Amino acid sequence: MPSRLQLVTLLAFALPALCAAAPSVSRLTPPSELFAANNSSGPVIARFLPGQRFDLQATVRLDAGATLADFRFLVDGVETRPAAGTTSVVTTGLTLPKDVNAAVVSQRAFSLKKPGVHTLSVRATQSDGQSVSASGNFEIVALERNGRLAKNIIILLGDGMGASQRTAARIMGRGYAQGKAQSPLAMDTFPVTGMVMTSSLDGIVTDSSPGMSNYVTGNKSANNTEGVFPDDTADAFDNPRIEYLSEYLHRTQGKALGIVTTADVFDATPAAMAVHTSNRGYGTGIVDQFLDDRGLTGLTVLMGGGRKWFLPNGDKLKANGTLDGQPMNGSQRDARSDYELPADLVAGWGAARGAKDAGRDLIKDFEGAGFAYAPDKAGLAAAASASKLLGLFSYSNMNVAFDKINKRRGASTIVDDYGFPDQPMLDEMASAALNVLAKHKQGFVAMIEGASIDKQEHLMDTDRWLLEVLEFDRAVQVAKDFAAKHPDTIVIVTADHECSGASIIGASTKTMTALQAATATPGAAAQRDAVVGTYQASKFPKYTIAADGYPVSTDVDFKMLIGYGANADRYETWLAHPTPTQDSQQPFVGSAPQSTYPATPNVRNASTGFLVTGQVPGESAVHTATDVPLSAYGRGAAAFTGVMDNTDVFFKLAKIVGAR
Ligand SMILES: [Zn+2]
Repeated sequence: MPSRLQLVTLLAFALPALCAAAPSVSRLTPPSELFAANNSSGPVIARFLPGQRFDLQATVRLDAGATLADFRFLVDGVETRPAAGTTSVVTTGLTLPKDVNAAVVSQRAFSLKKPGVHTLSVRATQSDGQSVSASGNFEIVALERNGRLAKNIIILLGDGMGASQRTAARIMGRGYAQGKAQSPLAMDTFPVTGMVMTSSLDGIVTDSSPGMSNYVTGNKSANNTEGVFPDDTADAFDNPRIEYLSEYLHRTQGKALGIVTTADVFDATPAAMAVHTSNRGYGTGIVDQFLDDRGLTGLTVLMGGGRKWFLPNGDKLKANGTLDGQPMNGSQRDARSDYELPADLVAGWGAARGAKDAGRDLIKDFEGAGFAYAPDKAGLAAAASASKLLGLFSYSNMNVAFDKINKRRGASTIVDDYGFPDQPMLDEMASAALNVLAKHKQGFVAMIEGASIDKQEHLMDTDRWLLEVLEFDRAVQVAKDFAAKHPDTIVIVTADHECSGASIIGASTKTMTALQAATATPGAAAQRDAVVGTYQASKFPKYTIAADGYPVSTDVDFKMLIGYGANADRYETWLAHPTPTQDSQQPFVGSAPQSTYPATPNVRNASTGFLVTGQVPGESAVHTATDVPLSAYGRGAAAFTGVMDNTDVFFKLAKIVGAR
């Protein structure tokens, strides 16, 4: 008879073997609480419009040595009937541990019309006949038509623009008197305002990819991914897709899509309107997909920075790290960040297959597809008669309003350091975009992004993000004016998330001369305790606004002061920084003059400011989970009141334009 110890030992070895002796399902997509937590009373995670397309997928773990013999998806117990070529089984290139034998099974571009919560099941059988089934759920949301429909949707997205950023821009741009704002921001005049919960699929704090795509897919994506659900394969472009608002409305109503940003156009927010990828960093594939899948999205206007992804890359890196001698054109196209889709995805969605083509001349291809190309502000004016428009105004992210406006005033040549002296302001881009989109009789979906509100908040460059909000608000006015003339338009202005935990802590008690003098005395006593005026000591900071709409200077006596609740270590002087902080996305960031700019906020002002110790590691401020305001104007605006999830916005917009 075995001893007690021998029994325990036997069991310990036998149990894992027993458990493994059957296939299991470790992921079922779309995501649900029913599958993930066996929770049938939790919220339904995945919701779709009637007929909105999405991919079904499961990861099936097989016994060692076994192969997958069969799989099928069932909805409410009835087998789905996939169209020819739209299913796949992937067993290689998985991101699971090496000793796991698994198959990722997919059915592409599924859709369902019947409203309600549905059960999704997968049934899989391995080569020895053992089978497994697992279930989750999703919802088809019925939209009842009532009221007059809108034709056009304009989404103004202030990246990282929470309530503090709106308030601070109002104080700077409009001024206060005895506690009252002298006048409102354009976004303040929108009649309806609600609050939005911004979390992503995998964290309370979102990054910009799901921050945007959740608004326009109706579903939660994971951080760093856009228009897709997570999967267990390494390929960044094969993830289970969710049909975008632009795609759904192009397919069902023929609407056009316009994307306008001050960022590089491959950046998370613009890409999360139209491109499906699990890696927001894959710029070559992202910009290629903008053009290649224009038949799905209706892409008609694309405007921003990012020319580095459109220029053919003829440079070849030699073994010694030098280039092959051709003049560098700034291209950062690279096969490693490009895409090529699997056959089932192409068959299911009617998507372009793509190709790894670093040498592609994408500007030429856009022009070949009928797009007018504007390389600068002058070119933008010249393209006024275009029916499709591509504008690429810099290699990567455009210069910020602070530096663009100073160039126009002849007060600084910072933009020249980037090689693009004639960049448009966001309101000028918005105006050109709406002019082109208005020619499309079926209406349009436009997204206009103030991208560097967020980027300068990460850098805690207060004066630069403040002017970004003012620039963005001028674009809000352009959209409002458009909607006033075209009343079949709904305009929303919101953010994808808050960034930096910015707070208006008060104002300086010093004149500018005294504040500048304080930098001679390092330490908090001279630069914090003697400077920061709180409560009534903050008075009402006064900025003189020039005819161009921006402050003559942000360095004024008794200036407004901003603190950061989500900050990394930095040195603070409260003064505007004469140069921007380095932007690692720029192709020539390593060469002078850009390389002479401060590398991070942590070294900026190290010799003149006082150290503010942050709560987060790293060198920049981070996004926060705080709800953000959303203001609405135009037809259907009344729907946007109360506290809503970011995915709710999708269904409200769809209803306003009569999706069903
Ligand atoms: Zn963002």
